[in-house]
Amino acid sequence: MSNPSCLTIVRTLEDMQQHRSQWTSQGQRVALVPTMGNLHEGHFSLVKLARERADRVVVSIFVNPLQFAQGEDFEHYPRTLEQDTLALTLLGVDLVFAPDASVIYPDSLSMANEVAQTTTIVAPPSLAGILCGANRPGHFTGVTTIVGKLFHLVEPDMAIFGQKDYQQVAIIRQMVKDLNWSIEVITAPTTRAPDGLALSSRNQYLTNKQRFVAPRIYQTLLSMADRLMDGERNFVKLVKQATEALKSSGFGQIDYIDIRHPDTLRPSLATDQRWVLLMAARLGNTRLIDNLVVEADGLS
Ligand code: AMP
Repeated sequence: MSNPSCLTIVRTLEDMQQHRSQWTSQGQRVALVPTMGNLHEGHFSLVKLARERADRVVVSIFVNPLQFAQGEDFEHYPRTLEQDTLALTLLGVDLVFAPDASVIYPDSLSMANEVAQTTTIVAPPSLAGILCGANRPGHFTGVTTIVGKLFHLVEPDMAIFGQKDYQQVAIIRQMVKDLNWSIEVITAPTTRAPDGLALSSRNQYLTNKQRFVAPRIYQTLLSMADRLMDGERNFVKLVKQATEALKSSGFGQIDYIDIRHPDTLRPSLATDQRWVLLMAARLGNTRLIDNLVVEADGLS
């Protein structure tokens, strides 16, 4: 266990690489947990997993302009570095990598569209064109580009991501495989509030009334799962009923509700015995996502 007083905050590429070289020379295994900060119990569960598995734990905190589409909440995304680093100290994290946007994208103005026009990007696989990728143009290009840069700078042996962003982990797994990187990608389960709502930094945008309605996403996933386990295979009907359930409880735009294969994210076939149910829906201006993996004989 590391000494909790030893957390280092690093803001430059050079300092990050220097720490990494030192750990390499000591033969230490390094885990990376990439985040955008404003940390909550969901992030902490990833950090705890990293702490169990690696000698050194790096948490990156970077609100990545490239993964926000125009009109999204880049400017208003909550930034709470001091509070985050305090919590990470108590969790025994070794290093917080918190670069400014000008460090990561030195040739652009750090506005999403400016970065997109000026920087070299890592193009994501075709998986990025469905689900969230269909609703958030360019989002996954921003994700693969920043994660690729972080992997290059931190050179982790393993990287931990949350199942909450199911499509994101699937894309990163494929990127690591396609680009022949020796990094173990680990998925940590979704952490939820007692009423089932998946924790998210964006939940704080919800009004009290919206916060009361928000757990309906998880309840709807659970009732779809029940129907599948009862033998229902009419996926169109399941999606239609789930859409109606969300709409009638006060959700606005439903970006998607889908039933796919958990390993490949291809659309489900009637013969499948495992599924991932995925949803993205809006309550007011807040976009919430969630998912659930279901097997014919139970949830996982
Ligand atoms: P973010 O800061 O939202 O970019 O998230 C950083 C990492 O934390 C991603 O791998 C997310 O999937 C993960 N994460 C966010 N919320 C949760 C949650 N409720 N449970 C588990 N992991 C989460």
